[in-house]
Amino acid sequence: MSQRKLSAEKLQEIHDLAASWGKIVARRLEGESGSGLDMDFAAMEEIAAVAARGLTEGTLGTLLEQQAQSLGTEACCPHCGYLCTVGYQDRPLAVKGGQLTLHEPVCYCPDCRRDFFPPQALPGSGQPRLQPHRVADGRPE
Ligand SMILES: [Zn+2]
Repeated sequence: MSQRKLSAEKLQEIHDLAASWGKIVARRLEGESGSGLDMDFAAMEEIAAVAARGLTEGTLGTLLEQQAQSLGTEACCPHCGYLCTVGYQDRPLAVKGGQLTLHEPVCYCPDCRRDFFPPQALPGSGQPRLQPHRVADGRPE
């Protein structure tokens, strides 16, 4: 997995962009029963938290989807080299400030009878990682 970090300037730029989306969220409430004029601070804070959670889920979901789409349709088993089809499993994922369903790429090697995660097709990516043996998933052992 790439260890790329964004610069402080880029992070500030992203923060400022998200802050402007917060203004859009607040303006969307104008004219509705939940506008800022008739609510207490706790209600405003709850709206901000919901908006932040949506932003987190949208950002992470899109970035993870971009990574998954960069994979090919097949990957070699890291143990025996057998060319396996890349499949996907949906997995609920709790993240900082939100939760989302990860559409996770995973391969199954019929020779080794093991699942493995295909390597990301990014510069500096690591080797394929073996997944621990499955427990009672209905597949032949
Ligand atoms: Zn194998």
